[in-house]
Formats: sequence, C-alpha cells, structure tokens
Amino acid sequence: MKQLLIMLTLMQLTFVSCEGQTATPKEKKNTMSETKKNPVYSKSDSSKVNLSEEEWKKILPSDVYYIARQKGTERPWTSKFEKFDEVGTYFCAACGNALFKSDTKFESGCGWPSFYEPISKGSIIYTPDNSHGMQRTEVQCGRCKAHLGHVFEDGPPPTGLRYCINGVILDFEKAKETEKKYNENKG
Ligand SMILES: [Zn+2]
Repeated sequence: MKQLLIMLTLMQLTFVSCEGQTATPKEKKNTMSETKKNPVYSKSDSSKVNLSEEEWKKILPSDVYYIARQKGTERPWTSKFEKFDEVGTYFCAACGNALFKSDTKFESGCGWPSFYEPISKGSIIYTPDNSHGMQRTEVQCGRCKAHLGHVFEDGPPPTGLRYCINGVILDFEKAKETEKKYNENKG
C-alpha cells in the first residue's frame, strides 16, 4: 500500500513537470539555443537588418551575441556542426539569412565548421581584419553583418577557399524542411 502511494505521488510529480515543460507549445522553435524573441529572424525576408548593439543584445542568446556582435570565437572542436554531415542548408543564427549549403561543407580538421563556398555572392560580406597581428579576411552575414568567422585560401577545389565559421552562429535546416518552406513561400 505504501509503495502504491509512492508510485502515485511520483506519477503526479511527473505530470506536473511535463506540463511545466510544455507551457508554451505554440512557440516556434527556430534554433535549440533560441529562447529570446527575435523579431528580425526570417528565412524569407532578405531586407537588410540594421539594429543597435543594445537591440541585438536584447534579442540574441548571449553565446550568439558574443560571436555575432562582439566578433568572438568559439573554442575549437566545440561545435556540433564541426563533424556533422546531414544534407541541408546553414542559416545565420542572428537573422535567418541563408549562408551555406551542406554540399560545400568539408572536414578541414581546423576545429570549426568549414565550407568552400557560400550559398550566393550576396550572402556574405568580406572585410579585411588585421587584428591579433594577422592579416585575415573576416566574413560577415550579408543581411545583418553578424561576424561569422574568417576565409582562408587553403581550401579544396573548386574555389580553393576555406570559410572557417563559428558553429554558434549557424542554424541548420534539413533539406526536406527547406524545400517545403520554399514551396510554401512561393504559393
Ligand atoms: Zn545574419
């Protein structure tokens, strides 16, 4: 009898915690790390995003803000995308702009997700970066100017380029979902 009571109590507890987790079922999940509301995030709106640093800070998760707006660098080998070979598209985690396709991703061994070509010419902005005593080319999101990483000239053919990108600033969407959304937007 005592055992039964304990079981019932446990079951009740389980129900309570389940309800707690699903308190906001209608909230659309864009990324796993996204808990704040981001009004500029859109995979269909290509208009440029121009927000103050203060506004960015309000709408971006702190790890994304650190990379995107403070030009931070995540620790190497920490991104789940570093060894990740699913077919789909990578988007900017700050604004939803499409950046890379999975078929241009390659294992560079450098510790960060690497690509040899962006999805389109306008998807990325290039800026000379002479910080830390190095001459590098910084790559930023073409829509919101989030810092993504750097591009180096030691990549594989056909471009010979290696876009070394912080995984934190990437949002991945599997190919089928991308296709479905594309058709929905078209219709
Ligand atoms: Zn962006």
